[in-house]
Amino acid sequence: MNENIKTASYDALVIGGGIAGGETALNLANNGFKVLLVEKDLSIGGKMILLSKVFPSLDCAACITTPKVSEISRHPLITIFTASEIVRIIRGPNGAFKANLVKKPRFVIVEDCTGCQLCEEACPVSVPDQYQMGLVGRKAAYIPFSIASPRVAAIDIENCTLCGACERACPTKCIDFTQEPVEYAIDIKTVIIATGFNLFDPIKIPRYGYGRFKNVVTSMQMERLLAPTRPFPTILRPGDGKMPDKLAYVLCTGSRDASVGNPICSQICCMYSIKQAQLLMGALPMADVTIYYINIRSFGKGFEEFYEQAKGMGINFIKGKIGEISENPKGNLVLRYEDINEGIVKESEHDMVVLSVGILPNQEASGLFQKKELTLDLYKFVDQPDILVSPSLTSIEGVFVAGTAAGPMDIPDSILSAGAASSEAIGYLNRIQ
Ligand SMILES: Cc1cc2nc3c(=O)[nH]c(=O)nc-3n(C[C@H](O)[C@H](O)[C@H](O)COP(=O)(O)OP(=O)(O)OC[C@H]3O[C@@H](n4cnc5c(N)ncnc54)[C@H](O)[C@@H]3O)c2cc1C
Ligand code: SF4
Ligand code: SF4
Repeated sequence: MNENIKTASYDALVIGGGIAGGETALNLANNGFKVLLVEKDLSIGGKMILLSKVFPSLDCAACITTPKVSEISRHPLITIFTASEIVRIIRGPNGAFKANLVKKPRFVIVEDCTGCQLCEEACPVSVPDQYQMGLVGRKAAYIPFSIASPRVAAIDIENCTLCGACERACPTKCIDFTQEPVEYAIDIKTVIIATGFNLFDPIKIPRYGYGRFKNVVTSMQMERLLAPTRPFPTILRPGDGKMPDKLAYVLCTGSRDASVGNPICSQICCMYSIKQAQLLMGALPMADVTIYYINIRSFGKGFEEFYEQAKGMGINFIKGKIGEISENPKGNLVLRYEDINEGIVKESEHDMVVLSVGILPNQEASGLFQKKELTLDLYKFVDQPDILVSPSLTSIEGVFVAGTAAGPMDIPDSILSAGAASSEAIGYLNRIQ
């Protein structure tokens, strides 16, 4: 074996550090099992850590996620690798698995970084901030976001000019441009896939104008505008920084739409749009918010009441299919739609449009396994061959699935799914010991 490859062994490998992976890791560790949690991003927390509030309780997402993330990161039986990717997983003759993975260089010595942000201030390079969904910029030397875990800097080497300003500014001398990728060969007994979902890219529906009209944003961008860790102190439309007073939501953008290759319902967009509309009524009390929908699917506990509450607050609901969005010289958007109840085509002007983008499968996990295939379902989520009896089982014995890696679901269902995956994995570990 190559002696540069580091080795270690754990009971379980959890792939993906979102709420589902984090919860799975905690359950396993609280039952005495040694867990390696591998996250490809710079921070754990997944999409949830970036949300504003959660439906239907309107609890602050960050206030729920941060204590959980801190419990995960401090647990003595959980090792976290961020900025890391699994290369392959092979099952050995004894039934156990071997995983090869690569920890990418952060160009910062994590243990020595105090998170003071002096490198950020000194860095002259600005690029769009992926954690603020491109609404503002960030530096090439940067802390991902204020509640990131770990909350330490990283150097975005692709955009870095190697000017050295960050190195000179850093009081602990922890910036290290000599760092290289580190390879690991890990022995594990079970694997839990919690690789989450991707968001639909509305560029694929050109008639909605996303990418062309600055005041057409996605729901994830609106989450950032509404979040406690938001880029601006209030809601501003990106085109000219004006506070919007007539907003529209376009539901089912990229969901239930075979023409863009995603015929299924994303299950969360109706409710997160109703949530955002309620939060907007609080943030912009004079604003007028209209939700254009095909059907409102408020099927969960407390969801119908939440929908009724939104109607009571004065949010407009129009059963209408959007044909096209155009922009007028004021930067406002004109929505041409079919009013389904009246059966006629109408037009309406809004100064900001939010596209309620759907959930797409993240297919990365399927390519990781060698010798035995990890089967995907018809819509490319991880297949659940025994969905009624053991929903976390996959096509490979000893490999389980948690959260939205298996299909669209909200946070409570992702946590339930993580509970099912961890108890199945614990049962499996106890059987093979
Ligand atoms: C705009 C919006 C608003 C929402 N609002 C709400 C709400 O109010 N209430 C609610 O209940 N739900 C809401 N949701 C849904 C919620 O975000 C999801 O239910 C939840 O994030 C699912 O968690 P997860 O861990 O399954 O997936 P994710 O949050 O997607 O986490 C997956 C993690 O895995 C990592 N990963 C992916 N591939 C790999 C790989 N190959 N190797 C290593 N790591 C990998 C990712 O980087 C990520 O950190 C909202 C979603 C959106 C888009
Ligand atoms: S070396 Fe790179 S990261 Fe550091 S200040 Fe210069 S451009 Fe920014
Ligand atoms: S890398 Fe240095 S300057 Fe940047 S946050 Fe860490 S300690 Fe501060």
